[in-house]
Amino acid sequence: MIPYSTQLIEEDDIAAVVDILRSSHLTQGSKVEELEEAIAHYVGARYCVTFNSATSALLGAYAVCEIGEGDEIITTPISFVATSNMAIALGAKPVFCDIKMDGNIDGNLIEALITPHTKAIVPVDFAGKPVAIRTINDIAKKHNLLVIDDASHALGSDIGHQKVGSFSDMTVFSFHAIKPITTGEGGAVVTNNEEFAKKLKLFRSHGVVKKQLWNSDMVSLGHNFRLTEFAAALGLSQLHKLDRFINIRETIARYYDERFEHHKLFNIIRIDITEQSARHLYVLLLNPELHCVKEEIFTKLQERGLGIQVHYKPIYQNSFYKERFGEQRLATAELFYKSELSIPCHQKMSMEDAKYVADTVLEIVEKYAYRGYNV
Ligand SMILES: *Cc1c(COP(=O)(O)O)cnc(C)c1O
Repeated sequence: MIPYSTQLIEEDDIAAVVDILRSSHLTQGSKVEELEEAIAHYVGARYCVTFNSATSALLGAYAVCEIGEGDEIITTPISFVATSNMAIALGAKPVFCDIKMDGNIDGNLIEALITPHTKAIVPVDFAGKPVAIRTINDIAKKHNLLVIDDASHALGSDIGHQKVGSFSDMTVFSFHAIKPITTGEGGAVVTNNEEFAKKLKLFRSHGVVKKQLWNSDMVSLGHNFRLTEFAAALGLSQLHKLDRFINIRETIARYYDERFEHHKLFNIIRIDITEQSARHLYVLLLNPELHCVKEEIFTKLQERGLGIQVHYKPIYQNSFYKERFGEQRLATAELFYKSELSIPCHQKMSMEDAKYVADTVLEIVEKYAYRGYNV
């Protein structure tokens, strides 16, 4: 099976982890600091605070800007549930904004959703394609809101050579196994705001400040969301490979772009030449006449060894959300969900793999097109 995304762990990654395992210090120490400095430097932000997942990093980001009971965030329904879940965990309400057919939040629809309760706009750089962050920042500025970018797919993405992570009040990255680089589980918040960085560090580790050796003081409510030293060592080793990984994914994605261009049965999502996507996902959007056979196409591709997936069921369609917030339907998010297939694109694939994926996708989709038209 060729998965839609997966990690690439090499001998030097393993050696970096083993080094730490042989050392005396296993959790949050100098490797974590080294990783934070390296990430901040890489994305061009002043501060980076790592967490044990992007989910805890999101919770931290929301908490330090005091999002809580009665507040609202405006976010996208086409994301992993954690983006909005963590706002709910603090008593806030996610207000879902419709998207564009590139999977990213539609900036033109945000302003109409702003209320006196709105605290922040939380876009996602879907599949690694940078969201139109300048438009969002302008809206936020005008209405005195914060922008927290869930860039879990987008470490290494850029707009005009400026990296995602340098644009927003806070940006969250994920180092889950299949994300652009991995620490096994892990995440980070990057920011230029010193106050946020300080508070994030407290939130991550019990709200405790060390005064002298024996005297520490707990100044705010915190958790244990720390990253281990061996995870940080893996992250550092992986970060050095990020550009190479992105190049491989980019080469595969461009090959797919060529093979799939102007296809009559599905669309692809083009990346603007002034932008770089981390290429976390490669997305096909099936034409409406194929929606009724999408499940069969999905199954057939799986049978042929393509570990494809669908990203994402609109978050508001989940039972928890329906029970708590009622039924909702956003037209483009619905259409996107019905159309979307993520096909294999990752740094472990060879070009022969990519050719096999493209050939198989074309063969199966064209075969089922027949059926689709006849229904
Ligand atoms: C993966 C992901 C998360 C959660 O990341 P974890 O590190 O697994 O907690 C949050 N948001 C998005 C968009 C994701 O893809």
